[in-house]
Amino acid sequence: MEEEMRLLLQDIDSLKRSLPSSYLNSIDAIQDRAGKIMSLSKTSNSRRSKVKDMSAEVVDSNPYSRLMALQRMGIVENYERIRNFSVAIVGIGGVGSVAAEMLTRCGIGRLLLYDYDTVELANMNRLFFRPDQVGMTKTDAAVQTLSDINPDVVLESYSLNITTVKGFDVFINSLKSGVDLVLSCVDNYEARMVVNQACNELGQTWMESGVSEDAVSGHIQLLVPGETACFACAPPLVVASGVDERTLKREGVCAASLPTTMGVVAGLLVQNALKYLLKFGQVSPYLGYNSLKDFFPTMEMRPNPQCSNAACVDRQKEYMKSKPVRDAAAKAKIEAEASSLNEEPLHLDNEWNISVLDDSDAGVSTSEKAPSILPEGLVHELPTADNYPDQVGPTATGGIDDDDLEELQRQLDALNSS
Ligand SMILES: [Zn+2]
Repeated sequence: MEEEMRLLLQDIDSLKRSLPSSYLNSIDAIQDRAGKIMSLSKTSNSRRSKVKDMSAEVVDSNPYSRLMALQRMGIVENYERIRNFSVAIVGIGGVGSVAAEMLTRCGIGRLLLYDYDTVELANMNRLFFRPDQVGMTKTDAAVQTLSDINPDVVLESYSLNITTVKGFDVFINSLKSGVDLVLSCVDNYEARMVVNQACNELGQTWMESGVSEDAVSGHIQLLVPGETACFACAPPLVVASGVDERTLKREGVCAASLPTTMGVVAGLLVQNALKYLLKFGQVSPYLGYNSLKDFFPTMEMRPNPQCSNAACVDRQKEYMKSKPVRDAAAKAKIEAEASSLNEEPLHLDNEWNISVLDDSDAGVSTSEKAPSILPEGLVHELPTADNYPDQVGPTATGGIDDDDLEELQRQLDALNSS
């Protein structure tokens, strides 16, 4: 077919030279269409077949050689484990679609994609979606693109609104199919609270992401039910004061967006997800991004024993109960590490005199880290999860003082910017 098309294009070319110039425009149009058909036939033929095992073989035709090199470089112990993981991405917009593409290119095992929206021309300032996908649901358009990029990834498309009763049911049931991590890439408070609810109920670890309405800052956050603050642990002022939070996303206000900020936040989010899943480096509990000053604040947020979310409080109690088991595991790990340090280093003498410096905080998990240093002006208000009180007195849920209001206002500002 390709050869036929090439001959056709040649014929059109010679026709163009022999006909009077008044025909030129229509012949150009025919030539254009023939060219498009030819490139379409090429793309449909070039879809690669599935790869059974990830190979580290360094050949141009191996889609995984650069990823498997992470193992050779000592960053990841077993990269191929990535094929065992399922990740759910809620919200396939400016951040979610790019996160989905990154995980697909990394060879993730299964992706579950949730969105109720369709692709619009107004989305073209961001990455991923193409003008020819306008009108398709975002999840179907994503599956179309992602399955072409990497047919090894199992893709599930859920075109639904998780904030409806029916949508929530489907959402939470699909998470029960064995999901390792949920990535929240939604653009409003209500949907975040729904993801929070589902994850608290299931004890499901998730990561939240957000980009400000003015498009110049963003954040990512790790949420482990019971262990870290949940999304409801620190309620924003409007919610605490009884304002309907659904009015927060102002109708008719067109939020700004930049492909750059969205791309950076998606990159930070997926990097954190890869570190969490493949167990390398340090998983960030919270990482902000202020593009105007290139400032990346980090902090850690402990759960609030008086959280309004009952499932969160249940998970906090469970977490406290499992403390002896966690302590024993941590102790065993320290002992194992200490005994391995006493062993002779590998390749003590080598002809190149190369020595290996340990520049990582190996083995530090979110649960056993020392308290992080907070950005200037911020203090930890909440007790650590390990100090969860047995009885929360009725007075503890009482009034809000001025300091709390200031803090809540700050959180509200951060929320409005998501
Ligand atoms: Zn909570």
